[in-house]
Amino acid sequence: MHQAAEYLKTTTQHVLKNGTRATTELQGKHVLVLGGGDTGNDCIGTVIRQGAAGITQLEINPALPDERTAQNQWPEWPMVKKHGYGQLEAQSLFGDVTSYSATATQVFGKNGHVTAAEISEVGPDFKPIKGTEKRINVDLILLAMGFTGAEQWLFDAFNITECHDDYTTNDSQIYVAGDCRRGPNLVIWGVYEGRTCAEKVDASLKMASVAVD
Ligand SMILES: Cc1cc2nc3c(=O)[nH]c(=O)nc-3n(C[C@H](O)[C@H](O)[C@H](O)COP(=O)(O)OP(=O)(O)OC[C@H]3O[C@@H](n4cnc5c(N)ncnc54)[C@H](O)[C@@H]3O)c2cc1C
Repeated sequence: MHQAAEYLKTTTQHVLKNGTRATTELQGKHVLVLGGGDTGNDCIGTVIRQGAAGITQLEINPALPDERTAQNQWPEWPMVKKHGYGQLEAQSLFGDVTSYSATATQVFGKNGHVTAAEISEVGPDFKPIKGTEKRINVDLILLAMGFTGAEQWLFDAFNITECHDDYTTNDSQIYVAGDCRRGPNLVIWGVYEGRTCAEKVDASLKMASVAVD
């Protein structure tokens, strides 16, 4: 059982070092991916490149509709079912691998290795529905869920107690932007916040230099 981010990092480091994308270490193995977001999708794409023989992905939230609903028109964020590159690749190899409103309730192992998992449907309260449990054989479980925010230790190290919407903090010399400020988000927000925060720092430095002159 591995944290997805660690697994993806190690795999990427291996690719960068050895310059090869396809490996065989998951040949014949079945992988369970817990979490249906972008990270879960990256895990699926990666285990396929490592030769996985089968994949099960579980997303605890219900499936979103395939098309926008009347209540969810542009320019609102599209609340539609995602079909990431990993899921599409998996579909072409194994059929639909993703189950919604579902989670794992038990993990079984032998000699320190995962051998099986009990999976179950969940209700609107995310609690497992009795009678829907199913046991599947798995060789690897990737935990691709539960990113909840920036790591507190970094803020503590710099005595940051307040982060404001304009990127300033309680320390006038420290600014915070991107995932560090918002919690796990999207590249587009990282780019936007990085740029606007830099403008804010630039303006502040110019004001300071005018004050010195
Ligand atoms: C597995 C995964 C899949 C994702 N998929 C998508 C996707 O498909 N689409 C999408 O839009 N977004 C995706 N995201 C989210 C996206 O990657 C982030 O929202 C984005 O990278 C945030 O940008 P950032 O600059 O705020 O932070 P980061 O990109 O995390 O950059 C922070 C940098 O700071 C460095 N750093 C950390 N601590 C220190 C320190 N003390 N001193 C100096 N440097 C430090 C880190 O090494 C890192 O390089 C994904 C994220 C993950 C983890």
